[in-house]
Amino acid sequence: MNQNYLYTKKNEQDKTIIEIKNNKIGQGHFTFIAGPCSVESYEQFFTTASALKKTGVNIIRGGVFKPRTSPYSFQGLKEEGIKILSYVKKELDISVVTEITSVKQIDLFKDIDIIQIGARNMQNFEFLKEIAKLKKPVILKRGFSNTIDEFLLSAEYLLINGCHNIILCERGIRTFEYKTRNTLDISAIPIIKELTHLPIIIDPSHSGGIDRLVYPLSLSSIYAGSDGIIVEVHNDPKNALSDGEQSITPKDFEKLYANANKIFNYKLENNI
Ligand code: PEP
Ligand code: MN
Repeated sequence: MNQNYLYTKKNEQDKTIIEIKNNKIGQGHFTFIAGPCSVESYEQFFTTASALKKTGVNIIRGGVFKPRTSPYSFQGLKEEGIKILSYVKKELDISVVTEITSVKQIDLFKDIDIIQIGARNMQNFEFLKEIAKLKKPVILKRGFSNTIDEFLLSAEYLLINGCHNIILCERGIRTFEYKTRNTLDISAIPIIKELTHLPIIIDPSHSGGIDRLVYPLSLSSIYAGSDGIIVEVHNDPKNALSDGEQSITPKDFEKLYANANKIFNYKLENNI
């Protein structure tokens, strides 16, 4: 493993800090990425994004090409959704994150600040090579049945093909437990921190799969060393077209934002 680029650049001074406008992601910074699972309409996205921006979030997520388990579930607004992301991005002066699910979509991603590669595509190697060539910041989500080594080797595919701004995301893995949607692999955070120079964030929404787990999972990840969270926030979770049961409201997010910052700063100031 040691001949690999990723595993050899792991000293403090080598840590990657990614800059998205005025936001720094990685080492010494705690990043919040929040927004609805899916962009459903201009009103829904604007309402949620503006509430989050008011709280202090500058990087907003919103899926438009949705990798759904059932072909009968809402598949996303696609091109129309990209237009909404672009429009609200300008209106609110925010950065936007959305998932790409096919190389055919690449031309639509010019205005997208961070490209998400979802859990289901983590080991789609030809896809990774093509996305890397765009040289845009990427959130690479861990596949739900993939080991840490496999996860990091997928990041290596991006790195050696030209993409250096990679944010790793632990989003829960499949275990025998069925009380939660997935099991957040909290141990992956310190291990990945030891092995690599890349920032790692967690997704408390797709891991727990339940709105009330978002808060405890997010806060506990901070002590484990997480560099941030990507969390699903919806203005009306009960009527969300996807993942409503794991989405929190902008109001609940305010409390999470305040306390996560408190814990992160305490940890930083006290060198914990
Ligand atoms: C998502 O972020 O909406 C998503 C589908 O995530 P994952 O790829 O982790 O399932
Ligand atoms: Mn989702």
